[in-house]
Amino acid sequence: MSQNVFQFIDVQRVDPPKKPLKIRKIQFVEIYEPFNQAQVGMQADRCLDCGNPYCEWKCPVHNYIPNWLKLANEGRILEAVELSHQTNSLPEVCGRVCPQDRLCEGACTLNDRFGAVTIGNIEKYITDKAFEMGWRPDLSKVVQTGKRVAVIGAGPAGLACADVLARSGVSAVVFDKYPEIGGLLTFGIPSFKLEKEVMQRRREIFEGMGIEFRLETEVGRDITFADLLGEFDAVFLGVGTYKFMKGGFENETAPGVYDALPYLISNANRLLGFEKAQADYIDFAGKQVVVLGGGDTAMDCVRTAIRQGADKVICAYRRDAENMPGSKREVKNAHEEGVEFMFNLQPVGVELDAHGRTCGIKVVSTELAAPDANGRRNPVVIEGSERVLAADAVVMAFGFQPNPQPWMAEYGIELDNRDRIKAREQADYAFQTSNPKVFAGGDAVRGSDLVVTAIYEGRKAAEGIMDYLAV
Ligand code: FAD
Ligand code: SF4
Repeated sequence: MSQNVFQFIDVQRVDPPKKPLKIRKIQFVEIYEPFNQAQVGMQADRCLDCGNPYCEWKCPVHNYIPNWLKLANEGRILEAVELSHQTNSLPEVCGRVCPQDRLCEGACTLNDRFGAVTIGNIEKYITDKAFEMGWRPDLSKVVQTGKRVAVIGAGPAGLACADVLARSGVSAVVFDKYPEIGGLLTFGIPSFKLEKEVMQRRREIFEGMGIEFRLETEVGRDITFADLLGEFDAVFLGVGTYKFMKGGFENETAPGVYDALPYLISNANRLLGFEKAQADYIDFAGKQVVVLGGGDTAMDCVRTAIRQGADKVICAYRRDAENMPGSKREVKNAHEEGVEFMFNLQPVGVELDAHGRTCGIKVVSTELAAPDANGRRNPVVIEGSERVLAADAVVMAFGFQPNPQPWMAEYGIELDNRDRIKAREQADYAFQTSNPKVFAGGDAVRGSDLVVTAIYEGRKAAEGIMDYLAV
């Protein structure tokens, strides 16, 4: 592949430069500058073209990584983008938001000593560049089967399912209660990781492929599930997980305490112009904000608060820095942008002022116990360590659980003991639920996870649907 097999020694791993902090702290724009073709060539050429590429195995959609790195290195972008779409429905999104350090790049042979190949950024470059060059998926040779599938949810799982169906001649109609496609890609993940234009461009591409979107249409409210079962040959459920986990502490419903997702959605609605009333916008300008939690959602909230002009932003987490679940890359970005981290603190209650509004968060210090059977070290409270952190806004970022919809039970769609829809890849028809006509994938099946795993399941479910429909 490489002209110089020692390229990985001569050329260091380089990430794209970040925008200056003074811009990052006030603007909702992606923080990384894009690579140019010369940088892509240098970095792609570091790939060793291993006989057994671990990166491909660790990538949940099993992208043909070394092959498209080679094409990108040679400037053959149109071939690279075709290859990349054989395994991934949203490569430009994954290139931006996958936790590559845990996935493809974490498995790169060069990762231990020399620095992994910058796979994610090259994946993003290939698709962005191809779109810029006018590339569009060519479906002119696809033979229509006459079958029609309803997809509920325009998140990555639903979009990936619709993508594979459309490329196979099955009409896909996607229903979503939100006014734009993307699910959490549009309304959860903030613009400094994934700019809103990326999904708007994808909608145009998908529409060009014949996928129909019926937005602002909630199944169970604006249209019944029975109607969909009657009208379509099969139904795919990619409805996500939207029950917010609570802390269970005193005054957690007081004014000034917010759940993470409504906070992020209100900010996305403002950026997209979907805000219905000024009062719907949750604004932390000039406030002292404490975000509780240590995952990626908590990082998205603290960094959003910084950009809104909060006076002070603290992330309080009940374990230590080493045991934080959030991606190291995002934690570093938050640090750089001015977020203060406080570790080993557990919230026990919200302090209220004379008007019943939040004025602080009561916390206790913790220390970590010995690892449990799963290797996880649980926090143990230190007696007499209670204190109050001043705060006029508190955000709970404790994660999400599935929220089963009433019509699921009515139509024999079984759930497991954690309310996830039961659907297995290894079933006779991949990702079929207990109702034979209904398939499911993504967070609603796995519990809260990743964009790329939702894409994988949506694609596999589409194959299951086509087997079931015998097309
Ligand atoms: P969703 O993206 O949740 O989409 C479900 C869709 O179904 C929604 O659009 C919803 O409106 C629609 N829907 C539900 N019920 C109905 C109904 N009855 N009628 C019509 N429509 C309905 N993952 C990463 O890989 N990288 C990240 O950086 C990352 N950051 C994240 C940040 C935040 C704040 C959050 C919350 C999650 C993040 N994730 C990240 C996780 C990732 O976004 C999810 O795993 C992924 O979006 C799940 O895809 P999905 O299609 O299953 O569900
Ligand atoms: Fe890596 Fe994600 Fe792209 Fe796979 S989809 S190659 S894991 S960035």
